This record gives sequence, C-alpha cells and structure tokens, in this order.
Amino acid sequence: MASANTELRRRCLGQAKRIVIKVGSSLLAESPIGQPAAIADELARLDPSIELIVVSSGAIALGLPVMGIAQRPEQLPLLQAAAAIGQSRLVQNWERAFGVHQRHIAQILLTGDGLNHPERFTNAQNALAALLKARIIPIVNENDTVATTEITFGDNDELAALVCNLVSADALLIYTDVNGLHDADPAKGGKRIPIVTDIETQARPFASSESSSGLGQGGMVSKVISAERAAGFGVPTLILPGRERNILSRALACEDVGTLFVPKSRN
Ligand code: GLU
Repeated sequence: MASANTELRRRCLGQAKRIVIKVGSSLLAESPIGQPAAIADELARLDPSIELIVVSSGAIALGLPVMGIAQRPEQLPLLQAAAAIGQSRLVQNWERAFGVHQRHIAQILLTGDGLNHPERFTNAQNALAALLKARIIPIVNENDTVATTEITFGDNDELAALVCNLVSADALLIYTDVNGLHDADPAKGGKRIPIVTDIETQARPFASSESSSGLGQGGMVSKVISAERAAGFGVPTLILPGRERNILSRALACEDVGTLFVPKSRN
C-alpha cells in the first residue's frame, strides 16, 4: 500500500500539467548556463503536454561582476543597475538552453504591486495565456527598475506564488540550494520534512533565513510564506534541491524529494 507521503504527492503532483518553476539567485550564480540547460533538457524528456513557466532570479548576481562588484552591495540603486545589466544575460542563457530543444521563450517582467491592479492583472493574465497557448516558455522576473520588493526580501519567492495565480498553475516548484525544509540545522543532524499539511505548526517553527550563498535574499522564511500564498490559491508547492540530477522528473514521478506543502483542498 502507498504511504501517506506517496499518496499526497500523487494527489498534488501526479496530474500536474501547468508548472511554475522558481529558480533562485544562488543556483543561477553558481551555474548560470548549466542550471537552465538542466531544466530545458529535462523538460524535453517529459510528457509534451506539460506547460512550464519559469520564475528566474539571478539578474543581480549576473550583473554585479560586470560592474566590478564582488560582494552584494546594500544600496538599492546599485542592485537595480546590476539587475538591468544582468537581466539580458539571464534571458539569453534561458534562450540558449531551451533553443537546443527548439523551444522558444519570452521575457515577462512583473511587479507584485502591478498585479494588485485588476486591469494590469488581466493584461498579464491574457499575455501569459497567449504565450502558453503558443507553447512558448515565459521567463518571469520582477521589474527591478520600478520595484524593489523582491530585491529587499524574497528573491522572487512571493512573485512565484502570484504567478501561480496568474496562470492557474497546478504546482509550484521552488528550486533551491538545500534539500528542502529541515526540522533543525541539517549540519547538526536536522532531518528533511517531506510533507507539510499544516504550515502554521509543521513549517513555520522550522523556517529560518538559512541561505547558503548570500547571493539572493530568499531563505526558508520567504519560501514558506510563498508556499502559504500558493496554498491560498489551491496550488501545492514543492521546495526542491535544484542541483540534483533529474529533479524535475523525479518530483513529477512523485518520488520522495524535497518538501511538499499540501493545500487544504488536497489534504
Ligand atoms: N529580481 C532579482 C534578480 O533577478 C531578485 C533576486 C535578488 O534580489 O538577487 O536578481
């Protein structure tokens, strides 16, 4: 008989066709070409009816070296300038990765604030729907020139949850540089939490701003907030170790990887 873990994974991911993948700054800074390539290669091997929307950070991480800045600065205008420089490089990397498989991409820049505006929300929704219908892969980032929300906190985690609502996603996959949420520091024997059915009691107490590289402003706190937001839209979230091989296929095959946040409607 299937375990409760497997059963919940089947319920949340077994039929998922429209998937939002959020890739964090640290993964893209470490592997600016390899990480997009790994995702594009995997998508090419999956069921062709799967639709992908990528929420990609990494513009600042790719822009800072061009400005000759080694350490992430505090000043927002410098970070915004780096994002403006890095964004085109970031999108080129995604374009090349998917291009190998004859798939086209589109750049979408959004702000959380803009999405609070009903007309703008509908405009974004219509544009994304048209792209998905044409089998184009949207690559979404925050418009860092006009908004600094995700630079300050979240590294696009919240934006990813909002995108799930925009496209009526079946699942949100957050690629990160850790194995998932742990019940204590993994370096001190903390264990991965495979399933969260109640965020308040099973996730919040264990979320700390652990983030190994310091390149993004994410950490587990913003991922848990994002999972809660997505759950509010009825969308399950899976926090995954983005560096692991075939992680997308394994996640969609309902293997016991990462931490799955189950929305109330699927409990
Ligand atoms: N939009 C930002 C980026 O792409 C978010 C991540 C960050 O703060 O580094 O770089």
